[in-house]
Amino acid sequence: MSVVVVGGGVVGMFTAYYLRKEGIEVTLVESNGLGHGSVHAAGLIEPYRFDRINTTQMVAKMFNYMRRGITKVRKINKEWLSQLLLTLNREPPPESWEIMKEMASFSLREYAKMSEERDDFGYSQEGLYEVYGSKEKIEEAIQEERRSPFRSKVEVRDFQGFAGALYYPELSHVSTELFVERMKRELNGIKLVKAKANSIYGSTVNTQSGEVKGDTVVISTGISLSSILPITAFKGYGYRVKGTGTNVPAVLAEEGVAVVPLKNWFKVTWGFEADYGPELSSLRENPLVKVESVVDATCGHRPCSPDGFPILFKKGEVVVATGNCRLGWSYGPAMGKYAADLALNRVDRYPYLDRYGLRDGPLVLG
Ligand SMILES: Cc1cc2nc3c(=O)[nH]c(=O)nc-3n(C[C@H](O)[C@H](O)[C@H](O)COP(=O)(O)OP(=O)(O)OC[C@H]3O[C@@H](n4cnc5c(N)ncnc54)[C@H](O)[C@@H]3O)c2cc1C
Repeated sequence: MSVVVVGGGVVGMFTAYYLRKEGIEVTLVESNGLGHGSVHAAGLIEPYRFDRINTTQMVAKMFNYMRRGITKVRKINKEWLSQLLLTLNREPPPESWEIMKEMASFSLREYAKMSEERDDFGYSQEGLYEVYGSKEKIEEAIQEERRSPFRSKVEVRDFQGFAGALYYPELSHVSTELFVERMKRELNGIKLVKAKANSIYGSTVNTQSGEVKGDTVVISTGISLSSILPITAFKGYGYRVKGTGTNVPAVLAEEGVAVVPLKNWFKVTWGFEADYGPELSSLRENPLVKVESVVDATCGHRPCSPDGFPILFKKGEVVVATGNCRLGWSYGPAMGKYAADLALNRVDRYPYLDRYGLRDGPLVLG
């Protein structure tokens, strides 16, 4: 059997990884380099920090970010917005939480397992601090955490220079840059086609440099799925910097800034802008790291579904895997494994994740 994976971000890399483990002939079509769409990320493996998007609370948070100049709105997929408004505050079914919990624990386990096999991607299980500037905000965050279906372990801790932090001991982090290098080694031997896929019809992928065929096609092209699904882009920035600062991974909850200390650099990420553009922003200063020099700077686009839950289903010979928004790395292993199982016909569907369909005819990517 042969499978073509279109899009080599974190979801496509994991899909190819699990297919390869099964001895399947894999072709990966990626318009840039492997990991291109995902490498900017902070690398926090934090599936328990999942947020529903289609809630009044989340919309209010976005307006608050806009008012404070933290976020800008340049372009939104209208279909995404209309689905968000149509389902505003609608509770997802219980099975949606069951599958998310299953995917969360699978993903956490898989990163740990891969690091036990070879400790070469900066994996650390030291947990995550969500840092707050006031006691009221900590109290609100605790109340919110108590309502979370994930029931993850969380403690209130002191955090120097701040009112305090919520500490999630079960969470981990990786260096996204080193992880992409690891995946390049894991995927050594698969056929890599460096080309933009324009459209998919049945199991044939039309690319800039000709047709690529397989028995099944998995589409994991992130925001370029906006043309066929209610996916919109939320852009953010990732800088690798040298300097001095926090020795634990921390998120400034009210600013949306994450700082992750790694062996040879810090990763600083921020930004949640409704924007499909490629422009970079200058480095966001923050109290967690004093920057001496910049190693490199990238930006990326979170592929967000209207409710924040992933979209993962099979129709005919096509599997679609996307929609993880700000948690693509956190759910990447599960997305890849579950997409591979759909491609191999080991499962027909995953409850709730197949809530959107595909129209008939050629699928033209954006
Ligand atoms: C600033 C920032 C920080 C983040 N931090 C975290 C974090 O700490 N933890 C976490 O879990 N998540 C994080 N995320 C979210 C995470 O990066 C995304 O959810 C993830 O990248 C989505 O992965 P994906 O594979 O679905 O899509 P993408 O990463 O967008 O990958 C899609 C790939 O497809 C390729 N492609 C697109 N169109 C085509 C085409 N037509 N033909 C061929 N190839 C194509 C692209 O080049 C790209 O490589 C962060 C995001 C941002 C912006």
